[in-house]
Parts: sequence; structure tokens; C-alpha cells
Amino acid sequence: MSENLLTLPFDAVERSKEAESVVMRGEKRLYHRFRPAPYYGGIATADAVGCSFLCAYCWNYYRNLNPSRFKNFYSPQEVASRLLNIAQKKSFNLFRITGAEPILGEKSIEHLIEVLNIIFQNKPRSVFILETNGFFLGYQVDLNQKLKYRNLRIRICLKGADERSFELITGTRREFFKYPLKALKELEGEGIRAWPALMRDLFLPDEIGQLEKLLDEYKIKAELELETLEDYPFVIENMRKRKVQIKFPSVGHDP
Ligand code: SF4
Repeated sequence: MSENLLTLPFDAVERSKEAESVVMRGEKRLYHRFRPAPYYGGIATADAVGCSFLCAYCWNYYRNLNPSRFKNFYSPQEVASRLLNIAQKKSFNLFRITGAEPILGEKSIEHLIEVLNIIFQNKPRSVFILETNGFFLGYQVDLNQKLKYRNLRIRICLKGADERSFELITGTRREFFKYPLKALKELEGEGIRAWPALMRDLFLPDEIGQLEKLLDEYKIKAELELETLEDYPFVIENMRKRKVQIKFPSVGHDP
């Protein structure tokens, strides 16, 4: 989808469906690379494409804007094999899929579950960190049951501190703000380890305090992780175009 054809704010349900129809072909999903990454102390990483949001600060903005320009579909077995090879070579015990939304609907969650099954069968003591925007898990809460793995950790990036900032940053309508919160509550209720995250640079301490109060109201016990902005020039330019301000700059950013 071209940026010019995308009207903001858009419907996250429609965009999820559209993205899933582009990035899934049977059980295979589009990825653009596999790599060892330095985060979390060293993690085998698969970079996927396709998201239900289009965040102003996304470091994968143009790939997620138009995932159809990628052509390499991988089966769960192929994804897991590549990740396991990286982990073996680098002596990593951590795995993740990043750069996109892993859960866009039923097909993509089935793909993810197969990847998890193969990785945990081959490396039962490893940990998989699921980085998600939490939208679809909150929208279709019965899906959370599928994620009951002892060594799965789910990090839900909330994107906004309230409906207004959520809409501005994600490009989706503000009514969808509640779904990642619902996902967190649901996952905690199921005993699945999950926690919220927020991009600290874009919020004043008061706004973060308000979000922490909201998490309390939802009875979400997990602590809020504050992440720092990857301030690549194109990220700063996209944020400027979308009128998203840096309010509380971090010192430096990860390479
Ligand atoms: S949710 Fe994540 S992957 Fe999706 S657009 Fe936002 S930052 Fe990018």
C-alpha cells in the first residue's frame, strides 16, 4: 500500500486483514532477513514484514508500509531452522521475531505457534521473546490460550499513553487503544508472562504516570518497561511529518 493511499487514522482490523493477506501464503510468511542481534545480551532474530499499525517511529516503516515488495516466504520449519542455526553458531539461548507484527490474525498466529513448537522441541531451555503491539491478542482474546508456553515471554508495546497519543503515533483510530491493555490483562489472567512497554522519549513523566495509573485500573501487575528511540534520520523525518514530538530525549540509542 502506498503512503499516499493510506488515510490516517485507519482501521486496525482492516489493516491487519490486509497485511495478513499479503504476508501469508498458506503456512509460509514473508521475512526479509535472519540475523544474530545484540539486544537482550544476544538473540537469534527473524525480521518479518507486515503490521496492523504504522507507527511514526517504526524502524521498519517502509517495509511495513509496503510489504508486498518482498518475495521470500518461509515455512515455520525454515524460520525455526535458520534461528536455531544462528543460536548454535553464536551460543545464544534467546529467540525473537521482530520488525513487524507477528500476530495479524489466525494464519499468522498458527505460523508463529509452529515456529515456537519447533524451537522449544529442539532447545527446550531456550526463551522466546514475543514482541507484539498486542492489538490482535486483545481484539480476539481466545487466541491468548494458544500462547501457553513455559518459556515464552510477551512484550506488548503500548505505543500511546492515552487514546490521543496512540492515534497520533500508530496511525490507527483511537478506539483501538484499549485492545493491547485487554491483551495484557487476559494474558496475566491465563498465567502467561507478559509486560507492557512504552517509548519513553515521546512522553512527559506526567503522561507516563497517567498510563501507569491506567494499568493499575486494568489490574495489570507487570511493570512498565520504558524503551528508548532509535533516532535514525528517516525516523526523525517520519515523526516530523506525522507531528510526533520528542518530549523527553534519551541519551544516545542502541546501534
Ligand atoms: S507496531 Fe511495531 S512493527 Fe508495527 S508499525 Fe509499530 S513499531 Fe513498527
